[in-house]
Order: sequence, then structure tokens, then C-alpha cells
Amino acid sequence: MKNSMVVIVERKDFQNLFDVLSKRGYQISGPTLRDNAVIYDNISAVEDLPVGWTDHQEGGRYRLEQTNKKSLFACVVGPHTWKKILYPAEHTFIQVKRNGSKLEITSAEKKPPKSALIGVRPCELHALAIYDKVLKDGPYPATSYLQRRQDLFIVAVNCVNPGGTCFCASMNTGPKATSGFDLALTEIINNDRHYFVVETGSKLGADLLKEIPNKEAGIEETQTADKALQKAAARMGRTLDIKGIHDLLYRHFDDPHWGEITKRCMTCGNCTMVCPTCFCVNVEDTTSLDGRQAERLRKWDSCFTVGFSYIHGGSIRATETSRYRQWMMHKLSYWQNQFGTLGCVGCGRCITWCPVGIDITEEAAYFRKNDK
Ligand code: SF4
Ligand code: SF4
Repeated sequence: MKNSMVVIVERKDFQNLFDVLSKRGYQISGPTLRDNAVIYDNISAVEDLPVGWTDHQEGGRYRLEQTNKKSLFACVVGPHTWKKILYPAEHTFIQVKRNGSKLEITSAEKKPPKSALIGVRPCELHALAIYDKVLKDGPYPATSYLQRRQDLFIVAVNCVNPGGTCFCASMNTGPKATSGFDLALTEIINNDRHYFVVETGSKLGADLLKEIPNKEAGIEETQTADKALQKAAARMGRTLDIKGIHDLLYRHFDDPHWGEITKRCMTCGNCTMVCPTCFCVNVEDTTSLDGRQAERLRKWDSCFTVGFSYIHGGSIRATETSRYRQWMMHKLSYWQNQFGTLGCVGCGRCITWCPVGIDITEEAAYFRKNDK
């Protein structure tokens, strides 16, 4: 945003952000602890955030640890993504009721509440931009997505503690938010002082900030935040060399290594469920046993299921190998043909939440190393 402002909000004043958003009618969602993981859910106060917790992530491994610092945002991304709110796992379009010889058809789509998302990571802003391209600005916009997207207020959080499976720096999607937010925070804990360097990204963000105690950021404070982000970029858990990746994978389309990967892959689809850019769905019609009611609904689907590529006569991708190759090549190659960008933003979720720790960065590195 032209003329963006950078101010300081002290930790003691941070609750004001929640209060102002609530007062303006937003339903607030953000990271919170549940079942030994940090997930996204409705929250209303600073205490709902994972205060003092940090996470350790590796291939197929996720652990939380309590620290003696009181950071609010020291955990990076967990198993949930914002598609949970913007493009829910299940969405009913219409309900049909039999009334005598007539059928009554009603829309089941209700106007969603105005949403504010707190703690959106830079890689996730890029994922939202991809969703916008496909579900908002594409040839077939999804009404339910448009409704949820239009009044969205986004509070981004820059990543000063990248996770073990993060590789946003390689994908040019982080660790600093550059666009697509109303406010962007960098959390700093320095000796006894705990504060946020807050950048405005929209008029709405600047307007809201007027109601939160703040002061103009000093040079030392902005430099501290910049240095923390530079350090974060240099200690990403993973890297992925994207130079020429589109053609590289095409050259290896028939490589036997795909078969080696799928000796481990269970085609469980976890990697697609946790991915912030995967948008594939199925539309189902269901009827009650007595034939009096029916519904049409949309459900998340996955390219790892045999049924996903079923057309009459059988499935196009009947083998595990063809399904894994489809997923990885879609993310890194075909997506570029379809949408002009990569389909991966380097969040690392598919690595952490793969039960056998299959790692997209390792597999891409294998093809690069064995490219002649
Ligand atoms: S790559 Fe991992 S998460 Fe994805 S389908 Fe295979 S086993 Fe499941
Ligand atoms: S492919 Fe994996 S690392 Fe890339 S955006 Fe999806 S979940 Fe994140």
C-alpha cells in the first residue's frame, strides 16, 4: 500500500486489537491450542493464542513445547489452513423436500459472518492469492468463497521463528508479508520488552489502528524487526530450488523414482488436506432413506483417491505412482501452465503431516541431482 505506516503496539495493549475487531462485528479466528496441536478456530482474547508455546516440525513429526518466553506467535503453521473458514470441508448448496407430489427446493447457503483472521503467515497470504485467482477471479467463481472473502480483515504475522519444514524463502513467499493484509505484525521480545512492529496494508487497517494505543516506530525498533526477519530467511528448515522446476519435472515424467516414492506413500491424502492451496472438491447428492429429503453438497476431495479421476469405465490414475506424480507435478509444473504461478507456497505442512515423512523438497532435489 502506498503511504503505509509502521507503528509500535506494546504487548499490554494487544488485547485492544481483539476488542476493536469484535466491536466492529468481526468474528475472529486465529491460532489456538487443541489436542496437542495449534489449530485455527474462533478466538476472542490474547489468552486464546498459544501463549508461550513453540513447535518442532520435521518430516512426519510435530511436537509442541512450552517455553519460558511469553510469545504469542512462536508456533508456525499447524495442520489447519484458512481454507477451513473460506472454503469449508463441507458446504451444502441446496436442500430438497418432498411435499406430496411437489418438490420444494431451498438454498442452504447462509450469509457467512464478517471474519477477521489473526496470525496469517506470509506463505498463507500467497496461498490466499492463489485461491483468489482460482475461486474468485477465475472463469467459475465460487459464490460461497466470494461471500467469505469480501469482508475479510487480515492480520498477518511475519515469521521470526521459521519451522523445521518451512521453505518459504526459496519460494519467494516469506518470511515477511509484502501484500494482501490489512495489518502485518512482527513480534519482538527484547530483554524485558515485548512489542509488535505493525505495518498497515490497507485503509481499513490504518483506520482500525487509530483505536489501538500505538506510537510511531523508531529506527532502532524497525531495524530490530528487519534483522530478525533476515535471520529467519537464512535459517529455514528446508530449501527447494525452483529454477526451471517446471521443465525439470517434465523431463522426469517417466523416471522410475516415482515408483520408489510410492513404495512409501500410503495415498492417505493428508498432504492435500493440510495444503493451503489444494482446492479440489467433489459434489455429492444425498437422499434420506424414506426418499423425502435430499441435499447437494460440496466436500473436499483429494487427487490421492482412486475415485477422484474416475470417468465412466474406470479411474484415469489407477496406480499410487500416477497419483503421487500428479500431486507433485501439479504443485510444481502443471500449476504454472494453468495459473502462471507455482502451486506450492513452501509452508511445509505436507512434509510435517505426511505419516511417513515424504518430503517434496527432497524429491525435487532428487530429480535435480539426477538430471542429465
Ligand atoms: S505423500 Fe504422505 S501424506 Fe501424501 S498421500 Fe502419500 S503418505 Fe499420505
Ligand atoms: S505443497 Fe506442501 S509445502 Fe507446498 S503449499 Fe502445499 S502443503 Fe505447503
